[in-house]
Order: sequence, then structure tokens, then C-alpha cells
Amino acid sequence: MRQSKLFSKTRREAPADETSKNAQLLIRAGYIHKEMAGVYAYLPLGLRAVERIKSIVREEMDAIGGQELIMTALQRKELWERTNRWDDDMVDVWFKSSLKAGGEVGFGWSHEEPIGEMMKNFVGSYKDLPIFVYQFQTKLRNELRAKSGVMRGREFVMKDMYSFALGEEDHTTFYNATIDAYLRVFERLGLRNDTFVTFASGGAFTQFSHEFQTICEAGEDEVYYNREKGIAINSEVMNEQTLHDLKVTKEELTLVKTAEVGNIFNFGRQKATDLGLTYQSEAGEAVPVWMGSYGIGVTRLLGVIAEKFSDEKGLVWPTSVAPYTVHLVSLQTEDPAVRDWADGIYQNLVARGVSVLYDDRPLRAGEKFADSDLIGLPYRVIVSKKGKENDTFEVVTRRTGEVRHLTEEALYGDFDNDPLT
Ligand code: ATP
Ligand code: MG
Repeated sequence: MRQSKLFSKTRREAPADETSKNAQLLIRAGYIHKEMAGVYAYLPLGLRAVERIKSIVREEMDAIGGQELIMTALQRKELWERTNRWDDDMVDVWFKSSLKAGGEVGFGWSHEEPIGEMMKNFVGSYKDLPIFVYQFQTKLRNELRAKSGVMRGREFVMKDMYSFALGEEDHTTFYNATIDAYLRVFERLGLRNDTFVTFASGGAFTQFSHEFQTICEAGEDEVYYNREKGIAINSEVMNEQTLHDLKVTKEELTLVKTAEVGNIFNFGRQKATDLGLTYQSEAGEAVPVWMGSYGIGVTRLLGVIAEKFSDEKGLVWPTSVAPYTVHLVSLQTEDPAVRDWADGIYQNLVARGVSVLYDDRPLRAGEKFADSDLIGLPYRVIVSKKGKENDTFEVVTRRTGEVRHLTEEALYGDFDNDPLT
């Protein structure tokens, strides 16, 4: 992508009403646009980063047998009444509206009920199970406070997955496979070491649900953890009973601020009982399906990564999430020899499958470097008149600041050896 053609621009200041670090950085670097509090548009750079997170999640959900679909944003009131979750006193984040033709609708803040209802069309006998489905969808939630940038949106992308199993054994196998798959996702996003599988509230059927909590100063949660013991407890459920049940003492635990990046639930047969979703067993009896639900906050993850992987100069993307791997920065663009050389390198890199943002704009070096630092791509390759004289480029690794001088051949060799694309 030629930066001269990119419509989004960097800016020195974020809007005055934007207080969160992730949104300030993402706005200044041209990744997102703030429509209103908690509502952000994703511009080309931001969308590419979101899509890369989604690809990683998609690969890992497919690997455990997930089938992708997409449910509707508009939802039927009657479904949620059946599980007693239409009432604003029961669910405090509903956006609701009414149809001109009459009748109320809800805007999807979760899809547990509609998807369970839909499955009645496909689940007949025990032979139809298990089923694992997932989607990426924009959830709408009327959050009271939205001050954490993209980490708490009123509109945000979630990956939600649902499992439909015969019984507990089947369910547990998939539940555990999902925990492993989630940990692989966080590994690939560079967050594994700071992410804990955490005992949390919210289990209607079980004592606890499991949250995936990532250490993050800007997070809204607090977790007590012990790395050696591999245990983490959300402060919401931290009490004598929990300590006793999990066989730990408070002294062994450290308190950290975290962001909830995922949450998984075991519904037992309760949800399907409420919805009337049953299968016919081998003995010919109608048995409620054993359901589970599994969320990952895709756009919240983008915010967490922006918070954790940044410095005073700007964003510092992990390669797996960066919208482009290489920022090719051409200096002295007014010199045709330098310009042609840079154009050629751009084409060669792209031909090799390396994703490149090419700063071909006629600006001063200092301005270009400041923008490049702010945008935060993993590698900066500088093409200059001085480099041209001895046939080398300066390659700067954004994260470490390491500077290398490479020939064109060495540069391609570097990217060929290292799967950076
Ligand atoms: P929170 O406690 O942060 O409000 P939640 O428990 O209500 O989140 P879930 O219903 O468990 O959220 O949703 C699954 C995942 O979606 C969460 O683990 C989180 O990563 C993400 N998520 C939830 N609410 C938001 C939001 N308002 N903005 C961005 N991501 C969100
Ligand atoms: Mg949750």
C-alpha cells in the first residue's frame, strides 16, 4: 500500500474527550475513527489489524471443529422472555427498538438464545450431536460507561462460539479443547504469558465460569493469581469459600489489574430446557441438549495489545497482528534514482508475499520517522541516497530499536527465512 494513497492521516493530538491510551494511539495513528463514546469505526489500517486477529481466532476455532456462521443483529423478544432475560432488570445492556409493523425487537448483545432456538431445526436425534458453531459479530450493548476506548465499546466485535453436546462427557472434552485453543490464540497474539485462565462468576449452572484475563493497567478487572500454582481468581468471587474450594490461601496470591479477553460457560442442560431444545436418545426419550458458550473480545484484544505494546513514540505491534509487516520509508523522493530504487524494492517485497506499507510521500525524514514510529509496524526499511551509494538499507526493528544495514539480497533473504508475512 502506498502511503501517499492512504486516506487516513496521522495526527498529533487525539480528540480532547478521548481519555484512554489505546484509543488515543489508535486515533492518532489513523487506525480508528471515534463516532461517539464507545463507538468506533475501523479505518483501513485498523481493519487489517482486526482481520488478522480474527484470522488467528478463526484458525484455532476451525481446528477444534468449529463451523462458522453468522446470526442476525435483530432479535425476537419472545425468545429472551422464555429465559427471563428480556427484562432490563435482568439484562442491563439491552438496546431495544420496535418494528413499524408492530412488536418489539432487541439488538444482539449475545446470541445464546437465538442460536439455541435455531438449532431446533437441525437437532433431531442423538446422531446429530455434537455441534460446534461460531461467528464474528458486532455486538451492541448499552454500556453505562464507555471510557476504555475500544476495550469497552457500545458496539464491538466478539467471537462467540456455542457447543451442543449429548451430555457432560462430550461437553467437557470440547470445553477443555476450547481452553487449549484460546491459549493458542493468546500465544499467537503475544499475550500468553500475561493471560490467566481465571475462576469467575457468571456460571448459572456451575459454581464458576472461566475467564481469560490479561494483565493490563487499563483493564477494568482485578485478579488474584499465583503463576507457579497456575491459579487465578477474579476478585469478584474472592472469598473464604472460594479459597477453601480451590485449596489456596490469600497469602499465596498476588493482585493485578487485568482485562477480560475471553469468557466461557457451561450451561449444563438448563439453557436447552428453557428453550425446549431436545434430542431423541437411543432409548427414544427427549433429552435437553448440554450447551456451552465461549466468547473472545476481538476488538477489546486490539485495545489490550495497543495498551501493552506501545511506547512514548507510538504503537509497537506484534508481527502477528500488525496491519503490514514492513514500513518501507523512502527518503529524498525528489531524486529519481532513489525513487526508482525504492519503487523496485516495494514491488520485489510485495512479489515475495511480504506485506508492505510504502511511505512514498514527499516529506522530511523526521516527519516520516515520527509517523512510522506512531504507526508501529514491526520493521522499518529506509531507502536513502546515502544507502544507495553503498547499496544498503537501514532496517530498524520497532520493538528493540535494533538497526541493521542490509544489502537488497540480504533483505529478501531475511524475510524469506523469517515467515514475516
Ligand atoms: P465485561 O465484564 O467486561 O463487561 P462481559 O462479561 O459482560 O464483559 P461477555 O458477555 O462474557 O462479556 O462477552 C465475551 C467477551 O466479549 C468478553 O470476555 C470481552 O472480552 C468482550 N466484551 C464484552 N463486553 C465488551 C465491550 N463492551 N466492549 C468490547 N469487548 C467486550
Ligand atoms: Mg464475561
